[in-house]
Amino acid sequence: MHSTKPSCAPPVALEAGASFEAAQDHARSEAGSTAAVPRPFVERRRRRTADASWQDALDCLQRSLVSLEKSNGELTAAETQYRSMFEEALVGIFQMTPEGRPLQLNRAMARIFGYESPAQFLAEVANHASLVVMEPGQWNAWKTSIDQTNQRRGIEAQVRSRSGEKKWVRANVRVVREEGRVVRYEGTCEDITDRKRAEDRNQFLAYYDALTGLPNRTLFYQRLDEAMATARWKNGRCAALLLELERFHVINDSFGERVGDHLLVEAAQRIAATGGATSIVARVGGAEFAVILPNVEDAGEAERYAERLRERLGVEFSLLGNVLSVQCPIGISVFPEHGRDAETMMKSADVAMRAAQEDSGRGYSVFTEAMNAAMLEKVNFENGLRLALSRDELFLVYQPQVDLRTGTVIGLEALVRWRHPQLGVVPPVKFIGLAESTGLIVPIGEWVLRTACRQAKQWQDEGLPPVPVAVNVSAIQFRQQGFRDLVRSVLHETGINPKYLELELTESVLLTNADVMFSIIEEFRDMGVMLAIDDFGTGYSSLGYLKQFKVNRLKIGRSFVQDIPANRDDMAITTAIIRMAKALNLSVLAEGVETEDQLAFLRTQQCYTIQGFYFSKPIAAEQIGERLRLGFLPRTRRAS
Ligand code: C2E
Ligand code: MG
Ligand code: MG
Repeated sequence: MHSTKPSCAPPVALEAGASFEAAQDHARSEAGSTAAVPRPFVERRRRRTADASWQDALDCLQRSLVSLEKSNGELTAAETQYRSMFEEALVGIFQMTPEGRPLQLNRAMARIFGYESPAQFLAEVANHASLVVMEPGQWNAWKTSIDQTNQRRGIEAQVRSRSGEKKWVRANVRVVREEGRVVRYEGTCEDITDRKRAEDRNQFLAYYDALTGLPNRTLFYQRLDEAMATARWKNGRCAALLLELERFHVINDSFGERVGDHLLVEAAQRIAATGGATSIVARVGGAEFAVILPNVEDAGEAERYAERLRERLGVEFSLLGNVLSVQCPIGISVFPEHGRDAETMMKSADVAMRAAQEDSGRGYSVFTEAMNAAMLEKVNFENGLRLALSRDELFLVYQPQVDLRTGTVIGLEALVRWRHPQLGVVPPVKFIGLAESTGLIVPIGEWVLRTACRQAKQWQDEGLPPVPVAVNVSAIQFRQQGFRDLVRSVLHETGINPKYLELELTESVLLTNADVMFSIIEEFRDMGVMLAIDDFGTGYSSLGYLKQFKVNRLKIGRSFVQDIPANRDDMAITTAIIRMAKALNLSVLAEGVETEDQLAFLRTQQCYTIQGFYFSKPIAAEQIGERLRLGFLPRTRRAS
């Protein structure tokens, strides 16, 4: 607080304690030598000077008084200002005795604790310590630390407000001492409940899955580490189980994400309800859940748990009006046999889960080394497939398609093979699925298309009768943005007439968004490329698309042909497909024809285009050149 000084300027330095005589002396000295001045004049002048000085001094006193009054006013104003600052501060301010009894506080402080006014606070709160939710001894620990350092900033504590609501506050406290003795504490306090809640939420999200409320992968691994440490200490065992809701993405795609979310939540609840109080359930991936059984006797105990889990999850799910059943293979690993760290335990459980997925029997398996070896083999196979193209290990064989009436080859289906360095020739059924799931089908398919077109052109250039080549196209390839451009550029670079290229599509291709499909198919028709539907009738698509999408040919799959004439149903289906194709003005071809009986039946149904071992297995390009040169297949003569 500053003091206001009187602002008068006296004729002499009155302020410095100068006397009236001094003022007179000053006047004298100002007048120079008294001898030189006439006496009355000097007298008059002296009196006048003395009067003036008095007057000045009085003025000055007056001004000092005014100024003092003013400064008193200012003092009062400043005090009012400070009081209002204290009272109206947005942050809580408090004073308390060393024992914690409140002495003074402002409105904000009262408000933080749910009191209407400081007065109400002072009346109802006997001790600040009673407001804080804390461990015993905490209050004293704070006190000691404040006393030692004279202040403490950022004390965060959970408190209980007047209504009992729990809140979080942050306080800065300092000690006030008199003659070295602590007389009180004073400080500020703010409500940080919102910030704490946000922090808790972030903390929750870091360790828990927001959808199911279960621990996430991070927390699961921590818990598994802990469970293993305890088992190690007790010389016991613990088990980790991993399970996946199979084909979850299909459910998500076909029924929508809301149904998918409900499925995850209900599955989580069922899993959580299966374990005992000590088991820990987590969501460790999109549709993957994991369980820790912290204390098991042996693998058998974990298997019994897996059985119960399968029973519960085997019950149909009723979700937003949809009834769904879900397969969920379970893999089990046991500590210490199948892993000595969380990572290895989970890897083992994963291998066991994949094994359970392939073995449709019990639906769960305990990890074995043999599974590991099989998995390793699979990984090697996949790596080999990645390199197959660059190592030139893929090759094509061609299977003739024959017209029964003329005995001529009317088409050649290109079929891919993989010459594996260790396994020998691998058929496509063993690697196309893998190529599709890994995306390798795109470069492989491109290679097949280019090689087949180049070969067809080469035969034509050799002067052999031109025959269309049929190339199988995977749904994944067909949906690729650049597929149409690829076909166009391959036709261009090989110089083959588009009418000599037939693309064989599966019915699953036609399940793609109808508008997109329509435009792709139209574009191929405009290009002049032929389109066939392979293995017709084995997929899930509706017949309606046949009218909408103008393909050229239906191929009756081997599954319908192989049991003719023994299977009447297959005969009925084959007949129906042939009739429908004719009615829709489409060509029809029967695949997988091996016997005279099958041939005879197809002939009676007027299906004259045939492909199958009866005439020829798929053969190498050189042998095909030979057959084309002859212009017909040797067995066609017998058949016709
Ligand atoms: P697909 O396109 O239906 O090919 C016909 C399959 O039936 C071929 O098997 C062929 O060898 C076999 N087959 C033909 N006639 C007979 C017969 O009389 N008896 C028996 N038992 N089998 C016969 P392959 O070559 O093993 O091909 C299997 C499947 O692999 C093909 O079925 C096709 O879906 C797929 N595939 C083959 N090459 C390719 C390719 O380059 N790309 C794609 N995406 N898939 C391919
Ligand atoms: Mg085919
Ligand atoms: Mg086929």
